[in-house]
Amino acid sequence: MMIPHYWYNINVDLPKPLPPPIDPYEADSRIALLMRILPSELIDQEFTPLRYVPIPDEVRELYERMGRPTPFRRAYGLERALGNGVRIYYKFEGALPTGSHKLNTAIPQVYYALKDGAREVVTETGAGQWGLAVSLAAALLGVKATVFMTRNSYFNKTQRVLFMRTYGAEVYPSPSELTKYGREALRVRPDHPGSLGLAITEAIEFTLMGEGRKYIPGSVLGFVILHQTVIGQEVLQQMPEEPDLVIGCVGGGSNFSGFSFPMIGAKLRGEGFEKTRFLAVESKAAPKLTSGRYMYDFPDTGGLLPMVKMLTLGHDYVPPPTHAAGLRYHGAAPALSLLVREGIVEARAYGQEEVMEAARLFARTEGIIPAPESAHAIRAVIDEAKRMPKGSVIFFNLSGHGLLDVDAYSNVR
Ligand SMILES: *Cc1c(COP(=O)(O)O)cnc(C)c1O
Repeated sequence: MMIPHYWYNINVDLPKPLPPPIDPYEADSRIALLMRILPSELIDQEFTPLRYVPIPDEVRELYERMGRPTPFRRAYGLERALGNGVRIYYKFEGALPTGSHKLNTAIPQVYYALKDGAREVVTETGAGQWGLAVSLAAALLGVKATVFMTRNSYFNKTQRVLFMRTYGAEVYPSPSELTKYGREALRVRPDHPGSLGLAITEAIEFTLMGEGRKYIPGSVLGFVILHQTVIGQEVLQQMPEEPDLVIGCVGGGSNFSGFSFPMIGAKLRGEGFEKTRFLAVESKAAPKLTSGRYMYDFPDTGGLLPMVKMLTLGHDYVPPPTHAAGLRYHGAAPALSLLVREGIVEARAYGQEEVMEAARLFARTEGIIPAPESAHAIRAVIDEAKRMPKGSVIFFNLSGHGLLDVDAYSNVR
């Protein structure tokens, strides 16, 4: 099987035009700021009119070296445990070295930074999956990575910090002493736990402070979704039959969209998948798809990026703690939000207990300890399979493994 030659841009096939990003304040342009700090190719990709965007050969080669195409497997053990003749297939993004799909966009983002002449990439991370992916992508491409990690996670998720350093990254707890904004936050509150908004602010300030630096974001911008479609482009080649139902979990929406958009696009163009339903699963800790409002909001807590129209709980929403840290995000990617609004994608929210129970069943039947985020998709697979007629087919995305999420399994019996 070949690594896809193209990412897929669903924006050209949406039933309504996607509302563009906007600047909230005239004087203080967010879009102009992005143009200064982001690799230029990413800005072009954000607004590309192309349906298929070529994947550079260097990126395809790195995808291959890191284990793409990832496996697309039949979940025979889970099927047997459910016992009602529904066929279940899953795409396994946990097969990548950092254990999740996030490497799919980290590699091209660092690649485009290097093409712009950058010698260093700067980013923020919460729980650490994004920081880990950026650290590896930077190591592979020979640039330096600097990661601002929310102080609370920095001291609680020490394994991830050690792994980022193993890949050669500089990792700082945010707030840090490196930036004006960080020093000010620490002066006001020396034991500041940090926040993603603050970490983004520091990463951007740090990027602007030095020469040869580019900022690369892990959040819901369109090019992140675009790069993740390598997942679904592979599925189109790997699938032995058409699904009745496609399921994925949603934090910001990148793995769900990357997995499902090539299939949804084919459906929108009338090229197959006529009877396929699509189901996005979120955490009850951050239920923007099922209880959010569709409006312009900031994608980042700090309000530094341009506003986008999306389903959101408000950028100042503070989610309750949950093991699925990657799903604690206030908004969902604009294209995904639009598809939910139009009724093309269904949405559901689950709580932590029921999700971890599904994780346990999957581990015992398939052998893979799923990431708590991915376990949300598994919960929905189990509930849906029980209701579907014999012979139905379900695809789901296993966005990551849970081998770094030891705490999440501490209460599993
Ligand atoms: C980050 C993460 C998610 C959530 O992010 P999306 O952008 O919604 O994909 C889901 N699963 C895993 C394993 C993650 O690391």
